[in-house]
Amino acid sequence: MKVDFYRHALTPAAGQAMADVLANAIITTGGVCRAVEAQIAAYFTAPHALLVNSWTNGALATLLAMGVGRGDEVIVPANTFVASANVAEMTGANVVFVDVDPNSLLVTPELVAAAVTPRTRVVMPVHLYGQMCDVAGLRAMLDHHPAATQRIRILEDAAHCFEGTRDGVRPGRHSDAAVFSFYATKNITCGEGGAVITRDGELHARLLETRLHGMSAMAADRFAGGRYNHWDMMRLGVKANLPDLLAALLPDQIATIDARLPSRQAMAERYRKAFADGPLRLVAKLSECSSAEHIFPIGLSVGNRDAAIAVLNSAGIGVTVNYRSVPGTTYYRERYGDMTGRTPISHAWGLATLTLPLYPGLASAEQDYVIEMVRERVYPLAR
Ligand SMILES: *Cc1c(COP(=O)(O)O)cnc(C)c1O
Repeated sequence: MKVDFYRHALTPAAGQAMADVLANAIITTGGVCRAVEAQIAAYFTAPHALLVNSWTNGALATLLAMGVGRGDEVIVPANTFVASANVAEMTGANVVFVDVDPNSLLVTPELVAAAVTPRTRVVMPVHLYGQMCDVAGLRAMLDHHPAATQRIRILEDAAHCFEGTRDGVRPGRHSDAAVFSFYATKNITCGEGGAVITRDGELHARLLETRLHGMSAMAADRFAGGRYNHWDMMRLGVKANLPDLLAALLPDQIATIDARLPSRQAMAERYRKAFADGPLRLVAKLSECSSAEHIFPIGLSVGNRDAAIAVLNSAGIGVTVNYRSVPGTTYYRERYGDMTGRTPISHAWGLATLTLPLYPGLASAEQDYVIEMVRERVYPLAR
């Protein structure tokens, strides 16, 4: 049997939605994006939502809107996708890596507190695998941190967590901004895309500029009123706006995301039950969270992970690694030196983990096969 690592669940109706956009004179950012932004703002009960063409460009635009740059420090977990750290690095700021909790593999207020310095400008909790970090706890800790010289901002990396909650609260409530990804494998996708939500009106106004080169008027607004309107540039920005052509894929997925969550959670629970008695390390399920169950990583022992990937691949099962520790990559090692001793949990997990297929279109016979192969061929390696 062949089991893909991921298959999107877009229907032919999505093709029709794109065709409808093609009937317009301009296919980039316009009315469709504005409607989806209103839909996202309503979903999160956030006053402001902006669509972007990737999490990466959205997070970079957000850091630029916050004024982050040279000399500043941005705190980022070591166990995440490289993009989380890269956007801070691209502003000229220094990345300060923190390790994660060994059970949840998330950053905690305590772990972040130890890394705060007078230069800390932003903390980036990553809601890894779909479970939310304690953002309320982070906010309270930062408000009283003795080393803080200014109000430290929180930017949530919610690429894995659109529909998840913690203590009944969605991303974006206790932070300055939360950034989502609609990349090809994410729970909501338009191929490439993302969104930023914020409760801060000033930040939103600056984001409107940093999302589009720093220009003072949106491309679509330059022709408002049937005539050309001049624009100015007040600050440096990126090109992060999403075209209507891709935004057209989102309304249906956002409208149905909550209804689709139980099947994802049931699938993840099925893996957890099947592996509960075995030698694999599983990510702890936090009782205060309803996880978006974005992906399902398992932990082997260091030294056996690549052999496990090989046996699963040869059984026709697609797997990935989420993630090798970011400070262990060549770029970050050369830039900041060997951080293994300061981020041992992320380092060890990065050498021992692999991710199994999990998506709504995964048939139960396919999941049974994955479970069988893991128990039969991976268990002996993990012992
Ligand atoms: C996918 C991902 C990103 C980057 O998202 P893009 O939309 O591809 O830029 C950032 N952070 C995490 C944790 C991710 O998984």
